[in-house]
Amino acid sequence: MRDYRIAAIPGDGIGPEVIAAGVEILHACAGADTGFRILVEAFDWNSANYLRRGHYIPDDGLARLKSFDAIFFGAVGSLEVADHVSLWGLRLPIAQGFDQYANVRPARVLPGVTSPLSGGQAIDWVIIRENSEGEYAGHGGRAHRGLPIEVATETAIFTRAGVERIHRFAFEFARKRPRKHLTLVTKSNAQRFGLVLWDEVFHQVAADYPDVSTDRELVDAATTRMVLKPDTLDVMVATNLHADILSELAAALSGSLGIGATANLNPERTFPSMFEPIHGSAFDIVGKGIANPIATFWTACLMLEHLGEDGAARRLMRAIEAVTGAGIRTPDLGGQASTRGVTDAVLEALAP
Ligand code: ATP
Repeated sequence: MRDYRIAAIPGDGIGPEVIAAGVEILHACAGADTGFRILVEAFDWNSANYLRRGHYIPDDGLARLKSFDAIFFGAVGSLEVADHVSLWGLRLPIAQGFDQYANVRPARVLPGVTSPLSGGQAIDWVIIRENSEGEYAGHGGRAHRGLPIEVATETAIFTRAGVERIHRFAFEFARKRPRKHLTLVTKSNAQRFGLVLWDEVFHQVAADYPDVSTDRELVDAATTRMVLKPDTLDVMVATNLHADILSELAAALSGSLGIGATANLNPERTFPSMFEPIHGSAFDIVGKGIANPIATFWTACLMLEHLGEDGAARRLMRAIEAVTGAGIRTPDLGGQASTRGVTDAVLEALAP
């Protein structure tokens, strides 16, 4: 029996609701006939406890997480804690501390789901987000606080090593897809140092992947192309901030933020990777029992794939598609089902 130890960090908002549902689904994917078991340990690192304890992650927190096979993360964000404090207090220390530099965000219109785009059925994209540097490197500061001469800097960091490894990851990823097409998303017309390096290294890496076709798009033009010509895109590689924005657009164009899934990968497997729905705390629906768990279930598929359980991942994706295709949907997708209702339907579809 293969045992996988999963660290669950439900976090804030609807995080606990969707992670509880996701854990049920993971257990249902495992079992005697699959040859693997899922062992879950929950961590109560969230904003309410931050306000009581003064920290999100305790001193030995990352050391404790390191021994797990994967991390299942809900959401972080609270009305009582500034967004930059919660993000830099919980999610980013894990993603950066564990060098999860490759962020993978698939977008597809699932059966039974209507895209707000008339040609939305053509959406079948994967956005590869550089997840360790760029605009989220944490480099900057403020001086002369409160004075008229106050200054704030926020420096985007691009290193050759960091840029090369994400482009190489993106080419490897694109190579495994049927269309084998990779779009370089950039802004090197305006950002003439970091993003020119970003482009240069892309073209150098491209020489090693003659089987992958490529093109290049400025990030602003990429948004219009996603809306107007969705069928011309396959895999996109973009910087930390650009991909963050594009992937929310991709999720909305696929029908709802409640669908988008993410893997924060440390491809070398030196550290555990982290799997999370792309949506946030969704304060407006907390406790109503209507959070769409599909993003979390799709995220669980990405986790199973990463663990090498491809058969279980495919079985789960088929179950998700059977449920959306049968019209069992939460209100964000125009349906009337509850989180519980969708979860039960997926459990039923998974049953042997
Ligand atoms: P945060 O600041 O943590 O990102 P937020 O509430 O600003 O949180 P999201 O959580 O991304 O942003 O939510 C944006 C909108 O999408 C909200 O109206 C929310 O209800 C909706 N939404 C997000 N996730 C889901 C979900 N899983 N199911 C249903 N609706 C969702």
